[in-house]
Amino acid sequence: MQLQSFGAACTVTGSMHLLGLGERQVLVDCGMFQGGDDLEARNREDFPFDPASLDAVLLTHAHLDHVGRLPLLVRLGYRGPVYCTAPTAALAETVLLDSARLQVEGYRQDLRKARRQGREDEVLPPLYEEEDVHRTLALLRPSLEFGQTERIAGLRVTPQRAGHILGSAYLVIESGEGRLLMSGDLGNRESGLQLDFTPPPAVDAVVIETTYANRTHRSWPDTLAEFSQALRDSVRQNGKILIPTFAIERAQTILHTIKELMDAGEVPRIPIFLDSPMAARATHEYFEYGDELIPPVRDALQNGEDPFQPSTLHTVTTSAESQRLNRYDGPAIIMAGNGMMTGGRIQHHLKHHLWKPSTNLIIVSYQSPSSLGGRIVAGADTVRLMGEDVAVRAQVHTIGGFSAHADQDDLLAFLSSAGQPQVWLVHGEVAVMDAFLPVLAQQGLKGNIVPDRTPVDLLGPGYASGRPPGLTVPAPTSGHAEAGE
Ligand code: ZN
Repeated sequence: MQLQSFGAACTVTGSMHLLGLGERQVLVDCGMFQGGDDLEARNREDFPFDPASLDAVLLTHAHLDHVGRLPLLVRLGYRGPVYCTAPTAALAETVLLDSARLQVEGYRQDLRKARRQGREDEVLPPLYEEEDVHRTLALLRPSLEFGQTERIAGLRVTPQRAGHILGSAYLVIESGEGRLLMSGDLGNRESGLQLDFTPPPAVDAVVIETTYANRTHRSWPDTLAEFSQALRDSVRQNGKILIPTFAIERAQTILHTIKELMDAGEVPRIPIFLDSPMAARATHEYFEYGDELIPPVRDALQNGEDPFQPSTLHTVTTSAESQRLNRYDGPAIIMAGNGMMTGGRIQHHLKHHLWKPSTNLIIVSYQSPSSLGGRIVAGADTVRLMGEDVAVRAQVHTIGGFSAHADQDDLLAFLSSAGQPQVWLVHGEVAVMDAFLPVLAQQGLKGNIVPDRTPVDLLGPGYASGRPPGLTVPAPTSGHAEAGE
């Protein structure tokens, strides 16, 4: 039972795990690296295996950092099935088409700039285009259902609810060698729209995400109080309230929360602009798969209500409309992507408002330390935005509890029903995973940090210290907001 990770190993992004189970080669997730130039450069590295040689691809959920390189895999020769749940397939379509569009647009912009400087040959082509996405979507097999075992490439695969985003699953994979659990991303049991994760069965090995393995999220009531206070304070300043949001799950959670706060009279009914066509599209899938959601949201949907539509919501579609918002006077909430502020429409809103003391920037998502958002949270005085230096004079609020990820308590609760497995840590910063090793030991579990690219035997003894040889453990980065994809 071999694992080789080409993403989300010693980092929180780019999930891609190659499993060698007997004769079979199965890829779990094929995500894109996000959050800064160094990380994103890794998207252009060759796949260290022949895509055509894979027996199957399994997806845990539709976030870009778990599906974003699939069209590249297909472009480079993969023609086999891609198994996932039905909501994951629906959301993956939205995510991948948006990703292709962004890449082509980015390429054209870079090319125009480069032409003026006479260096067109330095411009990198898009990773993939829309037709690659359509070829990829044709390979999706949305047959996975929670609790139902399916035979895939000679393996028994049972998806279970992961409680992270719509359609998110963890996978129990049984082969002749034993029983393996691939966690994908696990949900925060307190917040969000999803029902909690299903407790797992006993397994021989677990590969588990560790985004927040070193901390406990603020409680949901405290989070709500903090968020509504930030909104009320911001409204008093009479300026713009910018909320950078990821389009899937976070946008719907925030819309639902604002609606509840406004309906309860906790927050004044100021205009809200959802400046993210992708988030608006993704919201449709929440209507389609309402049964997966927490009871108050599910019941509202069944009663024909729209739990994601505060009364003052305007959905912005075209980029001309988005630009016009720059001239809109008076207080308003603007939600725009992307969540880490590294691109997308949030950038021009930041350029217009970040330098004003009356602006409030409310951060509700994970910010990678190297991203623009990470630099703002760390206290940068000025940041580079769309080719200009912009002073950071806005008030910055970071609200941790909206995280869609499990915290330490959630992870331990999850592992508590999994028997005595070997535990392999992925999807975390090295310092965070390292801090989690002794916590696991207290529970009688042996944890190991999965090395980047180096194959490991999941049923083997692991590493004496839990750390692969040569791994240096940096000091933990601090001060950045929680949550994330
Ligand atoms: Zn995710």
